[in-house]
Amino acid sequence: MMRLRCTVPLPKKLLNIGACPTNKEFISTAAKLLKNDEFETDPHNPLRRSLNIITRDFKPIKDYFKTIPKSTDEVPDKNLKKRIDPTESEFQTHCDVVIIGGGCIGLSIAFWLKEKARSGLNVVVIEKDPTYRKSSAARSYNGLNFNFLVPENLQMAMYGADFLRDIKHHLGSVNLNFTPFGSIRLASEKNVEVLKSIFKIQNELGVRSELLTVEKIKSKFPWINTDDIVLGCHGLESEGWFDPLALLFAYKKKAAEYEAHFVDGELIDFEFQSQSNILVDGEEGETYKALDKAIVQMPNGEKRTIKFALCVIAGGSCSGQIARLARIGNAPGFLSIPLPLEQREIQKYLFNSPGQEVPAFTTPLTLDPNGCYFTREGLSGNYLCGKNTDTPTEQTNKTLQETFDAEILPSLTQRVRSFKNAQIKESWTETYAYNYFDGNGIIGAHPYYNNLYIAAGFNRHGIQQSPAVGRALSELIIDGRYRTIDLARLSFDRFIVNQPLYEVSTI
Ligand SMILES: Cc1cc2nc3c(=O)[nH]c(=O)nc-3n(C[C@H](O)[C@H](O)[C@H](O)COP(=O)(O)OP(=O)(O)OC[C@H]3O[C@@H](n4cnc5c(N)ncnc54)[C@H](O)[C@@H]3O)c2cc1C
Repeated sequence: MMRLRCTVPLPKKLLNIGACPTNKEFISTAAKLLKNDEFETDPHNPLRRSLNIITRDFKPIKDYFKTIPKSTDEVPDKNLKKRIDPTESEFQTHCDVVIIGGGCIGLSIAFWLKEKARSGLNVVVIEKDPTYRKSSAARSYNGLNFNFLVPENLQMAMYGADFLRDIKHHLGSVNLNFTPFGSIRLASEKNVEVLKSIFKIQNELGVRSELLTVEKIKSKFPWINTDDIVLGCHGLESEGWFDPLALLFAYKKKAAEYEAHFVDGELIDFEFQSQSNILVDGEEGETYKALDKAIVQMPNGEKRTIKFALCVIAGGSCSGQIARLARIGNAPGFLSIPLPLEQREIQKYLFNSPGQEVPAFTTPLTLDPNGCYFTREGLSGNYLCGKNTDTPTEQTNKTLQETFDAEILPSLTQRVRSFKNAQIKESWTETYAYNYFDGNGIIGAHPYYNNLYIAAGFNRHGIQQSPAVGRALSELIIDGRYRTIDLARLSFDRFIVNQPLYEVSTI
């Protein structure tokens, strides 16, 4: 037990309480004695002043150990609501880190920053759609799979799998509804080398998967037509579906417990501050203008500003737009290079195919060499499917039914004969953030601004990567370097040196 030395002369009564009292004994005994003491009301009394100082210094230490609940369920709702519900929490006019975009990436960053720094950092998340009706997370397939060629992507997916397995420890009790499914990626003669490379990197990094010859595919999955197939890669652990909104709100709840702040509003502009003591490389006479304040439009139309030390752009497919507000892509020098993000569309179909020989309970996520994929949805003959293309969205007059009939159904029936009577139950189009430079996420500091970080462009795997991305960015901000997974190759710098990092087309 730590002991404090009292340097003020103590009244006689207090000196009689015994040798070396603990701080707690000292404070409570002194408080009792003071109650009746003639100096109780004198603010200049040295004993009173010392007690005030001790009490004040001990409060944050006591609070630190007392207020971290073990699980999100244990949080008294009233206090938590105050911090999650911006209408009830105090608007922060100043903060250390402002995060623009409260999707799964922005919220994971907020969670990790607060997890590491606690009250040492004031973190504010600005989100324009707190209902998440339009967010990618609410509409995504929510899958976790290991079909990657770039080691960083695979490491992030593996970290995501570990995080989800251990979610109670990180975020408290969360019902993710995780459904394990495994995956099988099929290769024809044309893309067999890519499949072998995926298998190689998986095994080098410790993912359990196996290569299946045609005979083995036939015996394990008799419903797969292997006519044009030469090899398969079968994932054996950790892959599956889960509820992305449950993860998103769990990040938010935990970050709120750690006293992150949330603002319902849209970032509409930045304010800059000229810093003449910083020279801009290659720009004669140009004054460096640091990002200084976020201008936020509140739901009632009011405009408010938040002064920040650091800013993180995590606005999903709107990140390119947000970056332009920070002059990225429309100013000279480093700022002339835009954030290469665009919104792309993808069609999703839920179809029904009843029958005896259809793929049943043990159906893995099945990825065809031509980009089509399907997976089981529930137990009543329903399947989700779509087609991955990493080509820009084309304007087409075709209806979803026409696209299904022309492109998806032929591929499905080629792979699984018994799907020939498949009927669409639902179909819809979704958008996602695509990095048109190389299709990969963009993570890290911006090379021009000394107070701007980016975490965007995660294509169709941002949810499974969110635990790793949040952690990595918190390391970069707090420790100045990556500690868990080195994501330096995914930084903005690759656009400057023109070094793309291509990934295979994944679901
Ligand atoms: C069809 C489809 C299937 C997918 N399948 C998977 C999958 O199986 N597995 C997987 O891991 N991922 C999948 N994804 C991808 C995943 O959904 C995204 O990568 C992920 O949600 C991206 O998270 P984010 O936080 O970067 O962006 P978002 O979820 O888009 O969040 C960004 C947030 O920023 C807010 N915002 C934007 N601009 C502003 C502003 N100016 N001011 C304030 N707030 C702003 C937005 O409202 C939004 O909530 C899929 C996506 C799609 C479309």
